[in-house]
Amino acid sequence: MTAISADDGATTTGGVPAPREKTEVPSPDAVVIRRTLAEIEPIADEVTSYFYALLFVQNPWLRDMFPPAMDAQRDRLFGALLTAAEHIDDTVTLTDYLAHLGRGHRKYGTRSEHYPAVGEALMYALERYAPGTWGPEAEAAWVRAYTAISQTMIDAAAADELRAPAWWDAEIVGHERRTSEVAVVTVRPEHPYPYRAGQYASLETPWWPRVWRHYSFASSPRSDGLLSFHVKAVPAGWVSRALVHRARRGDVIRLGPPGGSMTVDHASDRGLICVGGSTGIAPIKALVEDVAQHGRRRPVEVFFGANRDADLYDLDSFLDLERRHPWLAVRPVVEHFATRGLTGRLPEAVRQFGPWQEFDGYLSGPPQMIRKSVDALVSCGIPADRIRHDFTGTLVPPK
Ligand SMILES: Cc1cc2nc3c(=O)[nH]c(=O)nc-3n(C[C@H](O)[C@H](O)[C@H](O)COP(=O)(O)OP(=O)(O)OC[C@H]3O[C@@H](n4cnc5c(N)ncnc54)[C@H](O)[C@@H]3O)c2cc1C
Repeated sequence: MTAISADDGATTTGGVPAPREKTEVPSPDAVVIRRTLAEIEPIADEVTSYFYALLFVQNPWLRDMFPPAMDAQRDRLFGALLTAAEHIDDTVTLTDYLAHLGRGHRKYGTRSEHYPAVGEALMYALERYAPGTWGPEAEAAWVRAYTAISQTMIDAAAADELRAPAWWDAEIVGHERRTSEVAVVTVRPEHPYPYRAGQYASLETPWWPRVWRHYSFASSPRSDGLLSFHVKAVPAGWVSRALVHRARRGDVIRLGPPGGSMTVDHASDRGLICVGGSTGIAPIKALVEDVAQHGRRRPVEVFFGANRDADLYDLDSFLDLERRHPWLAVRPVVEHFATRGLTGRLPEAVRQFGPWQEFDGYLSGPPQMIRKSVDALVSCGIPADRIRHDFTGTLVPPK
């Protein structure tokens, strides 16, 4: 539950609070808050462990809302703190971010009365671990910030209650293994599930209760209401391995609300350059379908990257789309010994076919690929604010 976990705050170029203009003068609260954050950053793990220990000792009934293992949760908490603190002055973007977070926390059973307990544990943790910068001024700034943060989340959750369920149970109606590690999982939600092509859902399996992971929708919204995900089982991965190796038709998973802003701007006439690595190609497929449904002939260039030929698990359906749509070009890029496309890595392939200044960029895949592909697209003429991706690492410095 935590009021400030970033679980649903997967960041996007479009959805993440954009960095404030360097010329703006930060407010006194922002200055004080950033000082505290700088002090605790080197010991973030310790601070967050203490925070959770305190929270659970003082409020044992809250423990059941959290996953059994708290490692990932700790990182998310700190990431959310950084995000909120970094953008504390930027009311508009922070409000969007927190509202999304508040809506997403409904699926954990979070209620407004839980927020004070979280705030109290946070203040105690900061007081203990930031002795150099803590004092009446810092405390007042943090209380103000936390009050604003939690109120925004509470309000957004309350408004959402009137129009959407907290979660959707969804029965697996299709499970197709495409490679030894990749499965296409198709589900039927119990109630209609509204989303836009390019978005993702957080998902919980019956085998790992309270462990939620994000998966992108692999098609634009379908008339039969079914949803598809492409899942790659990562080594030692809890949820992905269960979905690929254990899930069967008839199993019921749970979905949180849709998130992400890697959606097509249909008001634009520019082309789309879409770069998808591994199962990152799933939302790209949804975007291509979306463009096709809108019936506007904008050029769409897809680069589909994989380690080996055999990992191009969805290439045939992309080639089929390419045959049907003259505006679409699909280029497979394989790192080692390609027989079905270019040999090399995605960022280099993107550079090779540039310039791209008449295009908007859409990126999906492993974080490293996204970082390098953003650089490649910027160097090929696309301004950073026209590059969209859903990547949780942009605001949290790599450890
Ligand atoms: C917005 C968004 C959309 C996503 N969409 C998809 C999607 O459509 N399809 C999909 O398959 N995944 C997608 N992911 C990744 C997915 O959310 C999970 O992170 C992934 O499935 C691993 O979860 P897990 O529980 O199996 O592994 P965890 O239990 O979280 O991790 C186990 C171990 O594997 C490592 N690990 C985690 N991810 C990877 C990786 N990709 N490669 C290698 N090692 C890894 C971890 O560091 C850890 O050591 C998306 C992520 C985000 C943020």
